[in-house]
Amino acid sequence: MSSVNTAVQLITREEAEKGLSRAGSTCSPALARGPWEYDLAEALAGEPAYGPGASSSDVAPQATPRQGQLPEEYKKASDAELDARIRAAKATLGDRAVILGHFYQRDEVIQYADFVGDSFQLANAALTKPDAEAIIFCGVHFMAETADILSTPEQAVILPNLAAGCSMADMADEDSVEECWEQLEEIFGTEPDASGRVPVIPVTYMNSSAALKAFCGRNGGIVCTSSNAKVVLEWAFERGQRVLFFPDQHLGRNTAKALGVPLEQMPMWNPRKELGGNDEQQLLDSRVILWHGFCSVHKRFNVGQIEKARQDFPGVNVIVHPECPMEVVDAADSAGSTDFIKKAIAAATEPTTFAIGTEINMVNRLAAENPQHTIFCLDPVICPCSTMYRIHPGYLAWVLEELVEGRVVNRITVDESVQDNAKIALERMLAAKPA
Ligand code: SF4
Repeated sequence: MSSVNTAVQLITREEAEKGLSRAGSTCSPALARGPWEYDLAEALAGEPAYGPGASSSDVAPQATPRQGQLPEEYKKASDAELDARIRAAKATLGDRAVILGHFYQRDEVIQYADFVGDSFQLANAALTKPDAEAIIFCGVHFMAETADILSTPEQAVILPNLAAGCSMADMADEDSVEECWEQLEEIFGTEPDASGRVPVIPVTYMNSSAALKAFCGRNGGIVCTSSNAKVVLEWAFERGQRVLFFPDQHLGRNTAKALGVPLEQMPMWNPRKELGGNDEQQLLDSRVILWHGFCSVHKRFNVGQIEKARQDFPGVNVIVHPECPMEVVDAADSAGSTDFIKKAIAAATEPTTFAIGTEINMVNRLAAENPQHTIFCLDPVICPCSTMYRIHPGYLAWVLEELVEGRVVNRITVDESVQDNAKIALERMLAAKPA
């Protein structure tokens, strides 16, 4: 099976030859370009927006760093040249550098990774290499921040392309969350009820900035992943009358619904509206206040795709990620984290057809690794996580060769005070046990 990038290049070339102006089976023809090109296009248009793909209509915050300095030689290098340079630099660096690759990363980068996993698995994998001076995180910004929090101060965490943010994480910025918190405190006060539960516990998904993890640490809150969201919500309900869950409304809703929280007790908080767009009574009656955030990749999945998969492949096993909308999760056979999806496929002893609702790079890799099964992505359109896609091999070659020369570029550093509070929220998560 060809990589996502190879397929994108082929489709785009064919479309150009036929004179088609719109993307066919990719969500954007711009996916075929080098990320530095669309960085530049955005800068020229004066519009901070993410690159092509699922998050192309999301607006990147003004503060999103821009990759301006990738030297021309890396933009012009052929795939074969970049491959040779990356391998040579990696061999020279040896144990001094560890490369981490997220499940959603493109194959052209994953092939060099020492570890492949989800964001938390990777941050922990880095801990097994305490002698590595550099941790090169081929993921997105919040993941590199988490690795910096968990690594030693001597280790430099490097994000090869600084513009590789996460549009979902950016949907909840610290100022908006602080503002929300103030409004909630005005309504609920700060005093615990008769059973000692505080009015509201903040819970942030791992896919959030370090500043928000620190916010949770400071305010009695906690971090969750898509693997442990249920346990974390139970932890929060033991200590609080309600939860403020950010940034992903879908993970919050799907998890709380599975715990029996009625939908009418899950109002949405839109940070652009007064009281998040709710009246006081709705908030007083709430059990979970859901931040108006979402993943543009997982939002693409819909019930129609599941119905079509069932029609085309009777007996198909549909597994989706809990960042998908609730009706998609409800229509699927099961829902779970990337790790859950991997394990579910590994557990199938008979050849099985799986329709998967998560990012295409991961789905294609699962298909290649499990040839005994038929595995395909529910979304018929090739639409990778476009922020993750910004890590092109050219950036990896550049940061590695700079390290060989003794220079650290694109280092991600989280302030010490933020680190301390974020660690508190992460440690609460690690200590949280099933009720
Ligand atoms: S897949 Fe979605 S949540 Fe994950 S990094 Fe990409 S935009 Fe963020």
